[in-house]
Amino acid sequence: MTSDRITITGVEAIGHHGVFDHEKRDGQPFLVDVTLGCDLRAAGHSDALADTVNYGEVAADIVARIEGEPFDLIERLAAVIADDALRRPLVDEVEVTVHKPQAPVGVPFGDVTVTVHRRRPVPVVVALGANLGDPVATLSAAVGRLRETPGLAVVAVSDLVETDPVGGPDQPAYLNAVLLGTWDGPPRELLRALHALEADLGRTREVRWGPRLLDLDLIQVGEPGGRSEVLSRDDALTVPHPRAHERAFVLVPWHQVAPDAHLRMGPRWSDPVVPVADALADLDASARGGVRPGPEWPW
Ligand code: ATP
Ligand code: CA
Ligand code: CA
Repeated sequence: MTSDRITITGVEAIGHHGVFDHEKRDGQPFLVDVTLGCDLRAAGHSDALADTVNYGEVAADIVARIEGEPFDLIERLAAVIADDALRRPLVDEVEVTVHKPQAPVGVPFGDVTVTVHRRRPVPVVVALGANLGDPVATLSAAVGRLRETPGLAVVAVSDLVETDPVGGPDQPAYLNAVLLGTWDGPPRELLRALHALEADLGRTREVRWGPRLLDLDLIQVGEPGGRSEVLSRDDALTVPHPRAHERAFVLVPWHQVAPDAHLRMGPRWSDPVVPVADALADLDASARGGVRPGPEWPW
């Protein structure tokens, strides 16, 4: 994510937002500050308006929202202004503050503001695995819960594959799948949500690479090689997952659900970006042979 910013403050217009009838009837001033997080390197080189965000247009959009459909809450006004800004191609992140200096507060006050922060959703890849209990039931429950996770939009889920365990103690075969989605928060929050779901669906702490009711790994965040790509070598969050590129039980279902997908072969910028198909072809035949078609999903 870039650290370049464009900020516009104090965009003012009369609007009719508020829960009270007199607010809807009489209107009052609203002021908006907006900070756009966007990559301005191209504009810095070219000096061309086409390479940046036209802040005149952004300000005009804000005025149109202030003067437009009345909302009860300035939280809602801030959110629609943020969504408008994120529709502009260069904008990855936005912070919007709405001021309502004449709000009916009932006591003397200076200003009341609401600030929202939104990010452009980025593509994410999650690997699912289970080899204890009833893996089909656990995995389908996990997908159901992921579909309900705020901020995560599930785009596609691979078929189930059955795989021989890799490493660790003697243990039953796994069922694995890969889920593609988009995520609009910090990557760490997604990993936290995955861990919470593992705990909720009954995973107990066990030996590393040992059998488990449910394992959810975050494989990739953003588009490899693109502006949205996230690389992290922190122990608490390593992305791309440092072992994904050598695991047939990740690559086979990933390739099945996204034949054109790419991955970076590790969490360093120096690690090459390759098609998942190529990473899969590079695995030796015995690794690929350890992955078989699994049962049908119950839905
Ligand atoms: P592997 O990571 O080799 O698949 P595992 O899934 O058995 O092994 P866990 O017991 O789940 O490993 O522990 C993984 C640890 O790594 C956890 O502490 C987790 O917070 C951390 N972690 C860091 N990055 C990731 C990631 N991208 N996905 C999942 N866990 C991660
Ligand atoms: Ca794992
Ligand atoms: Ca894990």
